[in-house]
Amino acid sequence: MSRKVIIYPGTFDPLTYGHIDIIERGANLGDQLIVAVSLNSGKQPLFTIEERTALVMAEVKQINAKQKTTTPVLVKSFSGLLTDFATEQRATAILRGLRAVADFEYEFQMASINKRLHGELETMFLMAAEQQHFVASRFVKEIALFNGDVSSFVPANVADALHRKMKETSAN
Ligand code: ADP
Repeated sequence: MSRKVIIYPGTFDPLTYGHIDIIERGANLGDQLIVAVSLNSGKQPLFTIEERTALVMAEVKQINAKQKTTTPVLVKSFSGLLTDFATEQRATAILRGLRAVADFEYEFQMASINKRLHGELETMFLMAAEQQHFVASRFVKEIALFNGDVSSFVPANVADALHRKMKETSAN
């Protein structure tokens, strides 16, 4: 039987507890979950792809240590089309998180486009957890910019990276 490889793609600029919740819940949906950090130059991310990937890797390491029985979650970065990356990884499905109504239209469009580009690739959605449904990387960056407390939205190492990055950018 073929292995069910699921890809959870995103910009993760930076990783939040909302993303972490989707990773934890998605880890057992198939045989293998791959968190795929997208270069996404269109969004002009605050963190480089290397920084974003390293932050996701650090967190996934802890998730893997907690969820010992499952196949470890993998973290990879990619540029270019998600459908090409999915083919390369022999993925059967894409996993995305859905927050309230705001995400729906964009996600519906992306899922339809990806389906047209790669007919066998399904997109599945997990509803954001009740405590995380308003958490967005965009807001977390804004709070950090004004030196606010981001500790309830992101893990400690992400909060540190955010504050370092804000200092760096304001020094330039
Ligand atoms: P992208 O640029 O691909 O949308 P993001 O990092 O913003 O990348 O989001 C990646 C995925 O995680 C998306 O499906 C998004 O809806 C989901 N997501 C983001 N924040 C949350 C959250 N708080 N709860 C659940 N899902 C979330």
